[in-house]
Amino acid sequence: MRVVVSGGSGFLGSHLCEALLRRGDSVCALDNLSSGRSVNIAPLLHDPRFAFEACDVSEPFTVSGHVDAVAHLASPASPVDYQRLPLETLAAGSRGTENMLRLADRHSARFVLASTSEVYGDPTVHPQDEEYWGHVNPVGPRSVYDEAKRFAEALSMAYRRTRAVDVGIVRIFNTYGPRMRSYDGRVVSSFIRQALAGEPLTLFGDGSQTRSFCYVDDMVRGLTAMIDSHRPGPFNLGNPGERTVRELAELVVMITGSDSGLRFLPLPVDDPVRRRPVISRAREGLGWRPLVPLEEGLRHTVEWFLAQPRRPVRPSEQSRVGRPS
Ligand code: NAD
Repeated sequence: MRVVVSGGSGFLGSHLCEALLRRGDSVCALDNLSSGRSVNIAPLLHDPRFAFEACDVSEPFTVSGHVDAVAHLASPASPVDYQRLPLETLAAGSRGTENMLRLADRHSARFVLASTSEVYGDPTVHPQDEEYWGHVNPVGPRSVYDEAKRFAEALSMAYRRTRAVDVGIVRIFNTYGPRMRSYDGRVVSSFIRQALAGEPLTLFGDGSQTRSFCYVDDMVRGLTAMIDSHRPGPFNLGNPGERTVRELAELVVMITGSDSGLRFLPLPVDDPVRRRPVISRAREGLGWRPLVPLEEGLRHTVEWFLAQPRRPVRPSEQSRVGRPS
């Protein structure tokens, strides 16, 4: 297969490109490097089956050659990124999604949308299955991301219904692993960075809010299963093992052997209190389930962080591509 992966130099996208190449596919990665890093795909550039195009998928672009599948992952994804790039986030969910859907339509290709558990907002139903329609504040600080993804889902289903595009939607829950950026504002990378630096780990609220953390290898197996399927979903992809943020902090301190303490700050606006996916649909529809236990995945992630150059890149030093002028 030849698969076009938007967001291919990001955290998940680069792992997906690698996995597709490993199983024999050809890959064309599109990315504007607004939150992705070229170092993530540098080893893939030597493979003749891999191509990289620097482009903004919210603007017109061309992909030459045939296309069998399109995986649309391009979007600012961490709270730090989508609050730094609010208009670009809305554009990636709307115009970007439509451009990728048109590409799939032109080639009669499979289209997979990387949606998010954020479509459930701060859920009033627990755990969350795909029948739940969500509890999203449409004007809050997280809305640019949540509503962009909700729109992207609606647009994708409209292309499936009216143009018979082979659309599939996955709703990704918190995923962690190597290649997360130290300052992306996500809880796992923040805790690891702080623990390795011997700084206090920052918890918001009292740390009793819960999240479900999925290791990146498990997530990539779910994404490839969805690319290979013809099912529409939506399917929740995530690890149903629910942990409090405080438990996560204590686990990171234990694994890193750090003597860091904990520091408590006020809970951000609209921060979801509980998150846990019901994954029975993905189990039945894709034959998928996560396999990597949290402690094992965290150990791999910490090892990767330890192997990186000493000084992490701060947000102010990141690429300015895609920033509002
Ligand atoms: P990431 O920021 O590492 O990757 C996103 C990539 O998209 C980056 O490489 C970025 O440069 C690129 N990008 C952004 N806007 C673009 C545009 N207009 N044109 C071209 N490229 C663009 O984030 P990630 O964690 O790898 O997330 C990948 C996808 O998975 C996103 O769509 C995100 O919403 C979804 N997702 C991720 C998680 C998670 O826990 N990692 C959870 C839910 C959903």
